[in-house]
Amino acid sequence: MEKPKKSLSQNFLIDKNISKKIVEQTQVKGNNILEIGPGYGFLTDSILEKNPKKVYLIEKDYNLKKILIEKYKNNKKVNIIGDDILLTNLNEFKNLIIISNLPYNISSQIILYLFSYKKNIYEMIFMIQKEMALKFDYKLPKMNKYKFLTRVVSNYNRCFDVSSKVFFPKPKVNSTIVKFKFNKKNIDLNKAIYFSTIIFKNVRKKIHNNLEINLDNNLLDKRVNQLNIDELICIYNLF
Ligand code: SAH
Repeated sequence: MEKPKKSLSQNFLIDKNISKKIVEQTQVKGNNILEIGPGYGFLTDSILEKNPKKVYLIEKDYNLKKILIEKYKNNKKVNIIGDDILLTNLNEFKNLIIISNLPYNISSQIILYLFSYKKNIYEMIFMIQKEMALKFDYKLPKMNKYKFLTRVVSNYNRCFDVSSKVFFPKPKVNSTIVKFKFNKKNIDLNKAIYFSTIIFKNVRKKIHNNLEINLDNNLLDKRVNQLNIDELICIYNLF
């Protein structure tokens, strides 16, 4: 094993029970699976045991990519399709299931990037920092742009927590397995992003002062962090 790279957030999962439990959060059998950052392929092996149709891998670390090519050279189900997820076009896919122990330093960036491929993806199962998992959970109070955008595109669930002991090297934080199941709605994501930048610009102001539009709704007299997610979506629908 090479020295894990901090710059690529390399924390490898070393507990087979956890990787099994992760893949059980979705229906792998017969489906196309994309894995981001497979590393040495520990999680990939658990995916393969569940008999997927195809597994597509995207790994940024060149040395790990070489190891993966060698490891899976006789496995026709495995395709290594790219290096950097943030530069990968997913337009050719349909009903893709994405599974990943995400690189924690760019996990929210990756998740927001994948929202723009909503129509190509069925659902996503991710291991992320526990704190980050809470930040996306729109069922919790204190709205933010992550909660809002997540609700616009998906149903989100925190599945279970994972101790840092199951990784090498151990990260400083605890982790959570989460699931985003995209809804079938036709969504103008740019509009939702635009709305979120306006409404969260100054969270101390009352909403009508941020929006600068006249809507007849008493929710606008509140501050954005006093709203629950349904109220926020209600305002968005007026926007
Ligand atoms: N899935 C593996 C490794 C998780 S660590 C396991 O569970 O053991 C995160 C992995 O993401 C590393 O292999 C790292 O090299 C890779 N990675 C980091 N940034 C990436 C990016 N932008 N695109 C694709 N892979 C990336």
